[in-house]
Amino acid sequence: MTYDAIIIGMGIAGISAAIYAKRGGLNVLILEKERPGGIINIIDNVENYPGYTSISGPDLSMKLFEQINALEIPYQMEEVIELSVDQEEKIVKTTQNTYRAKNVLIATGRSPILLDLPNIDQLIGKGISTCALCDGALYKGKEIAVVGGGNSALQEALYLSKLVKKIYLIHRRNEFRASEELIKRIKKCPNVEFVYNSQVTNLQTENGVLSGIEINQEKKIPVSALFIYIGYAPKTDFASALNITNPAGYILVDDNYETTVPGIYAAGDIIIKKVYQIVTAAAEGASAAIHFSRQK
Ligand code: NAP
Repeated sequence: MTYDAIIIGMGIAGISAAIYAKRGGLNVLILEKERPGGIINIIDNVENYPGYTSISGPDLSMKLFEQINALEIPYQMEEVIELSVDQEEKIVKTTQNTYRAKNVLIATGRSPILLDLPNIDQLIGKGISTCALCDGALYKGKEIAVVGGGNSALQEALYLSKLVKKIYLIHRRNEFRASEELIKRIKKCPNVEFVYNSQVTNLQTENGVLSGIEINQEKKIPVSALFIYIGYAPKTDFASALNITNPAGYILVDDNYETTVPGIYAAGDIIIKKVYQIVTAAAEGASAAIHFSRQK
C-alpha cells in the first residue's frame, strides 16, 4: 500500500500537518518514536499559543493527541531509521516496518544539547537534567544551577524558582538573548543569583551524584542539580543520504516547506528559519500539508 502522506514526528508541526492532510481527504499515517507533543512535553507553561492564556506543555500535548484520535488519523509508535526515494515513491524504514508514500513530511524536531564536560552523560538523572518539568520536584528546597541565556533557560528557571531554595543562573555573556518579558520576570525572583560571563568548566560528584559545579576553572559552587538549556540539535540522521540538510543537520525548505527532493517536506524546529515557536511550527505543518494535498 502507498500512503498519500507519511508524517514523521507527532509534535505540533506533524500533528497540524496530519489534521490538514486528513481533512483534505488524504490517506495519511503518522510515525512517532516516543510520545505525542514532542518537545512541548517538557515545557511547564505555554502562554503564547493562541486560544490558551496558560496551559502546561503535557496538557497541550494531550489536547493535540485527542484531536488526532477524534479525526481517526492512523499512527504507529515506531522509530524511523531511514528515508529514501524509489522513483516517485518515498520509502520510510522504521525499526519494525517499511512504508511507502507519495509524500513525506519530516517534523522530528530537536533534542536538547548537553555541555561538553567529562562524565556528563553518566550524571543524567543524577543531578544533570534538561527537563525542569520532569525533574524539578526532586530538588525542592535545594540549591541548583541553570545554564543558558535564551528563552528556554529563563522560562524554566522561572518555573524552578518556585520549587527550589536558590538558583544560580549561569550565562556565558553579560546579557540574555531571551525575550524582554522573561528577563523582566526572572529579575524579580528573589532566589535567583545571576552569574554572568561564566562557563561551567567542571562537575563535582559525591557517591556518583552531582554535588557541585566549577565556574571559569576557578570558583566552585555546591549545587544538587544543573539544568542545561543551551539550545537544541536537530534529529535528521535517518535522512542523511538525501542531502537535504545543512552541516548542522537543519533542513532547507522552500516557501511550500518542500525540500530539494520533490515530495519530501519538512516543518517545525527541524528546518532552517528565523523563528522557532510553537505557533510557527503549527503553521508550517499546515502549510506543507495544504501544498501536498493540492498536488494530489
Ligand atoms: P537559544 O535561543 O539558542 O539559546 C541558547 C542559550 O545557550 C544562549 O544564551 C547561548 O549563549 C547559550 N549557549 C549556547 N551554547 C552554550 C555553551 N556551550 N555553553 C554555555 N552557554 C551556551 O536556545 P533556547 O533558549 O532553547 O531557544 C530555542 C528556540 O526556541 C528560540 O528560538 C527560542 O526563542 C524558542 N523558545 C521560545 C520560548 C517562548 O516563546 N516562551 C520558550 C523556549 C524557547 P549566547 O546567548 O551567548 O549565544
